[in-house]
Amino acid sequence: MEANYILVRFGELTTKGKNRKIFTRKLLKNSKEQLGEFEQLTYQLTHDRMYVILNGAAKEPVVAKLKNVFGIHSFSVAYKMEKDLEAAKAVVVKIIEDNPGTTFKIDTKRSDKNFPGSSQEINREIAGHVFHNCQKELKVNVINPDILVRVEIRQDAIYVMDNTIKGAGGYPVGVGGKALLMLSGGIDSPVAGYLTMKRGVDLECVHFAAPPYTNDFAKQKVIDLADVLREYSHGTIKVHVVPFTRLQLAVYDNCDESYAMTVMRRMMYRVCEKLAEKNGCLVLVNGESIGQVASQTLHSMATINEVIDTPVIRPVVCLDKLEIIDIATKIGTYDISIRPHEDCCTIFTPKQPATKPTRHKARHYESNFDFEALVDECVEQVETLTINDSYFKTDDEFF
Ligand code: ATP
Ligand code: MG
Repeated sequence: MEANYILVRFGELTTKGKNRKIFTRKLLKNSKEQLGEFEQLTYQLTHDRMYVILNGAAKEPVVAKLKNVFGIHSFSVAYKMEKDLEAAKAVVVKIIEDNPGTTFKIDTKRSDKNFPGSSQEINREIAGHVFHNCQKELKVNVINPDILVRVEIRQDAIYVMDNTIKGAGGYPVGVGGKALLMLSGGIDSPVAGYLTMKRGVDLECVHFAAPPYTNDFAKQKVIDLADVLREYSHGTIKVHVVPFTRLQLAVYDNCDESYAMTVMRRMMYRVCEKLAEKNGCLVLVNGESIGQVASQTLHSMATINEVIDTPVIRPVVCLDKLEIIDIATKIGTYDISIRPHEDCCTIFTPKQPATKPTRHKARHYESNFDFEALVDECVEQVETLTINDSYFKTDDEFF
């Protein structure tokens, strides 16, 4: 027989008392959106579990998608069958053959007390059947088995549960409000976005483009990164592309080269704050990491950050580059991030940027020109892309 449903266990939600309903409903909604392509699935929500009923859908692709849904602590593929122990035994054999590992444990719960045999007896009977019918060398291990199969004998049916699969953890995306992610096309910012979403925060992205100095490859890269982040959210993610060229050139015309990077980043922050306000984002998120480059020393951060009131969250601020790369690889953004491209920051990189820029000097250079008007122009001329399933369809597919 094939698996017919998936049992989902909630993560940290259990500690959330009154807010629990909001969390579980959001998790249900996000799961439905993430699994939207499997039209036959149906769902059930109870106090402490969610059931995804497969209705004939293959389990593997559903499992792959569920692994990315934040707010899920763990889940198990399950088989519901008539109350026939022979059928349960056959399913247990199949589970043990299909899972890697050589040690196993059968854990039977018998809530239907009329069913013959104690839980222990049933465990032994099923284990005996497994030894006789499985091809691989097996051992029972009751403390730390590679494969734990749960058998529940209830009034209505027998339920057999496959080995527990670890979920993505965190909170359902959206329960924690919305943030604006500064998405550059580098390695760090997608990781920062992923870590933020994991805490249940929804994201919109902002990308600064400097055409003709940056080209469509750079933009495509950012779209592809946002598309990966989408796999961890709820099917849709917005990318605001800011035309930054005029403001950037004005910065370079009016500042000493050593301060160009500092002032440029102050401008980015100003544009972001306005965009965040306009789009209901409560905080900014970026991929800054202490000491990584001149603009990310503590002096730089303080001088850059002073221009806005909106809080800035920096999820990778204390991670080493290698630690960030590990996460990027795991979440599937690394290969996109290392594609060669021109970023608006890299094109205009000064030869000797100030590593200890002061607020006083930054303000002095900024007083040379009317940057407010240029900042507003950036905000007004933003191009907003909505990345969802239909975004990548070519026109042909619509006919
Ligand atoms: P890497 O160091 O791997 O290039 P990065 O691009 O994230 O990663 P920086 O260029 O030093 O690093 O920028 C620091 C942060 O500023 C980025 O993580 C990102 O959040 C933001 N940022 C930089 N350039 C842009 C851009 N063109 N558009 C939007 N955000 C940007
Ligand atoms: Mg970069």
